[in-house]
Amino acid sequence: MRAVDIIIKKREHGELSGEEIQFFVDGFTRGDIPDYQVTAWAMAVLLNGMTPRETTDLTLAMAHSGEILDLSGVVDIAMDKHSTGGVGDKTSLVVLPVVVACGLPVGKMSGRGLGFSGGTLDKLESIPGYRVDLTTQEFKKQLKEIGIVLTGQSLDLAPADGKLYALRDVTGTVQSIPLIASSIMSKKIAGGAQAILLDVKVGLGAFMETLDEARGLARLMVDIGRLAGREVVTLLSDMNQPLGEAVGNSLEVVEAIGTLHGHGPMDFSEHCLHVSAHMLVLGHRAQDLESGRCMAEAAIASGAAMEKFRTLVKAQGGDVSFVDNPGKFPKVKFIEVVKADRGGFLSRVHARLIGEASVALGAGRARKGDPVDHAVGFIIHHKVGERVENNQPLITIHASETKKLMEAREQVREAFIYSDEPVPPLPLFYE
Ligand code: URA
Repeated sequence: MRAVDIIIKKREHGELSGEEIQFFVDGFTRGDIPDYQVTAWAMAVLLNGMTPRETTDLTLAMAHSGEILDLSGVVDIAMDKHSTGGVGDKTSLVVLPVVVACGLPVGKMSGRGLGFSGGTLDKLESIPGYRVDLTTQEFKKQLKEIGIVLTGQSLDLAPADGKLYALRDVTGTVQSIPLIASSIMSKKIAGGAQAILLDVKVGLGAFMETLDEARGLARLMVDIGRLAGREVVTLLSDMNQPLGEAVGNSLEVVEAIGTLHGHGPMDFSEHCLHVSAHMLVLGHRAQDLESGRCMAEAAIASGAAMEKFRTLVKAQGGDVSFVDNPGKFPKVKFIEVVKADRGGFLSRVHARLIGEASVALGAGRARKGDPVDHAVGFIIHHKVGERVENNQPLITIHASETKKLMEAREQVREAFIYSDEPVPPLPLFYE
């Protein structure tokens, strides 16, 4: 078999056999198939799709490209959550400590930024010293001892996804249902999760722009999970406008800390409570969503969730003084408030444009392995449906360079659209 023939077959709309998929995944995991061929293949998959059978084969091949973690004896039920990616999505930083404080241990492997969407690992790395490269042994030990882990994919777990993810980020091959489904589910299967909550984002700042596409992705992941003997619950949540107010790595960590203290933005706090309630039900800690939500609220109000976050940061080598005093996060050189150039009701705060502008400021990568600037990003002052007056602050830009500041100023203006008529707020969840 030759990699080039498999690329051509996909380019010509062919259906790859299980053996061909296995050959390709094995080859790129070992490094025998070079990045340029993997990228060409990913582009062919993005353009021509995969059948559910091919996607399942790809998922299982990537899951088995490394070790499969066995968490029996470590936790009574191995739970995980994953979001399909969005702008301002710092949910894991809040939901994990909340549910762990409610007695549900969770060890999670997160990803870096992907295209215009941010990544939990990049956010966590803005805390000096925080390690995202725990080994499998360290993962298990920490999960057993303190019940909470938030790290990156170790080299032993689904390494094929790790490699493909980094390539997709910078080659325009993110927005593909089979590639997203196999990326997420291979990690979750390899990570040993028995019950998985998937937050499928839908809208302008998500990889799935329509509800139909999001439903298709959700169904596919539920089916793959079932085949692999895992329970999967999916939520479809809004990503037309950024989640919360902060977009950018350390800005989002600061917002997550505020939320754990009980004073996060309304939409983000609500989102986290709802996701937490679902996790508590799925993990058999709450009987129903209402009691799950009450437990989550209590964990925030009592400070228990905040304390779990501190414990997590400490355990993974992070400087906890940044958590205790978020004012310590490094500041950018330029902070500029962009004001509304007219009055009206906001009908759009375009999440993708803001995500792209944030990547351009340096919060994400243009090339594989690029460093990210943890301090840059935005604080958005209004949500869709709110009335703004002429000259009121719309968005604050945090930039490290004048040129990038000037570019961002232009880019973000386009993200805001006004209406003279009242506009209803966007829902947080669709299904
Ligand atoms: N999250 C992942 O882990 N992979 C994707 O492809 C998208 C979101």
